[in-house]
Amino acid sequence: MKCFNHDDRDAVGICKSCGKGVCRECAVDMGKGLACRDRCEMDASNVIALIDQNIQFSPVGKNVMGNMRKNTYVQASFLLVAGVIFLLTGMASGRLAEFPGLLGMVFLIYGGYMLWRGLRLPKQTQEQTRRSRLSATNRHSLNTDVE
Ligand SMILES: [Zn+2]
Ligand SMILES: [Zn+2]
Repeated sequence: MKCFNHDDRDAVGICKSCGKGVCRECAVDMGKGLACRDRCEMDASNVIALIDQNIQFSPVGKNVMGNMRKNTYVQASFLLVAGVIFLLTGMASGRLAEFPGLLGMVFLIYGGYMLWRGLRLPKQTQEQTRRSRLSATNRHSLNTDVE
C-alpha cells in the first residue's frame, strides 16, 4: 500500500480514524495506533479511548445481572409508592372499590411481584449452578459404579 498523501512512498500503517495508508512522515504514533498528522490525531485518540473503554467494560456478566436487579428494584419501588398513593387517594375519597383504589391495588400487586422477582434473580442462578454441579457429580459417580 502507498501513502495516501505521497504516491511514491510505501505506507507504514493505517490511520486508526480514517483508514488511509500513511507513510512514516505523515503518520503520528498514538501508542495503540497511527493517525494522519495534523488531520486525524484528535479523532484517532478518541477512537483509541473508546476501544480502551470497551475493553474495560467488556466482562459485564455480573454487572448486567446487578443492573437488572437494580432496575427491578427501582421499578418495584416506584410501583409500590404509586400504589400506596392511589390507595390513599381512594380511601380519602371513600371509594376504595372504584378506580383509584383498584388501580392502587393493581400497582401494589405488580410492584410486589417485581420485588419478588428481583429478589429471586441472583438466587436462582446460584441454585442452577449448584444443581448442575450436583448432577455432574452424580453422573460421575454413576459412571464409576458401572465400571
Ligand atoms: Zn486519518
Ligand atoms: Zn506520506
